[in-house]
Amino acid sequence: MSGDPILSLRGVGKRFGPLRALDGVDLDVAPRSFHGLIGPNGSGKSTLLRAIAGEHLPDEGSVSFAGEDITTAQPARRARAGLSIKFQITAVLKSLTVYDNLLLALQAAGAPGLGALLLSRTRRSLHEAVMEQLAAFRLAEHADTVAANLSHGQQQWLEIAMALAARPRLLLLDEPTGGMSPEERRATGELLQPIREHCALVIVEHDLDFIKEFCDRLTVLDGGKVLDEGTPAEIEGSEKVQAVYTRRA
Ligand code: ADP
Ligand code: MG
Repeated sequence: MSGDPILSLRGVGKRFGPLRALDGVDLDVAPRSFHGLIGPNGSGKSTLLRAIAGEHLPDEGSVSFAGEDITTAQPARRARAGLSIKFQITAVLKSLTVYDNLLLALQAAGAPGLGALLLSRTRRSLHEAVMEQLAAFRLAEHADTVAANLSHGQQQWLEIAMALAARPRLLLLDEPTGGMSPEERRATGELLQPIREHCALVIVEHDLDFIKEFCDRLTVLDGGKVLDEGTPAEIEGSEKVQAVYTRRA
């Protein structure tokens, strides 16, 4: 990897009673790159995201973010350092409008410097920031729609837009396209592209075609261990990975 990774895991392990959900996991994510986590059901993908997010502290190993050891940091400290997790920080309030949800997320964003930035903004520029972010997620025309009335896919996009309000340096998404139509899924890939300008992404997806198309690198988990890691083309050609997916089929 050229330059330092934004996120680096070494030997991360997590047990639930007798079950080793994660076992010696190494992971490096380059700044502004998209990294996919794939693997069969129960292979530890969500547990790994939670270990990065700080929801489950690992039993062994280390997690560092932007050069800082965050292995045991509280989620709030991770957020201040520039780590954003959809669902954790940003639940859509369904009785509020799309506009108000995003406004709240912008105001609640705890990223360094953002509070001062917001204070220095005029009301008009805050409005512009909300509308700009809504437009980036194809929600501008739904600004006055109550969130409960959005389609499932649009609600997911609103949550992603809210998770990005703090301008994080890393966004974690666990199966964001679950329950989306093929068209919404394709659009999600397009809508996420521009965040590369400032943000890396670690994304769990079970749709392999989707993830292969837009991730720079993939890590394949199986039974809590890293089975393989590489570019989508390398992973596609990996016999180890094919064996796991054939076993499952
Ligand atoms: P994936 O997201 O790849 O489907 P998970 O990370 O959710 O897999 O789960 C990995 C393993 O850990 C599974 O066997 C699952 O049942 C178990 N597991 C996950 N979370 C918990 C928990 N909170 N308590 C006990 N077992 C858990
Ligand atoms: Mg999962």
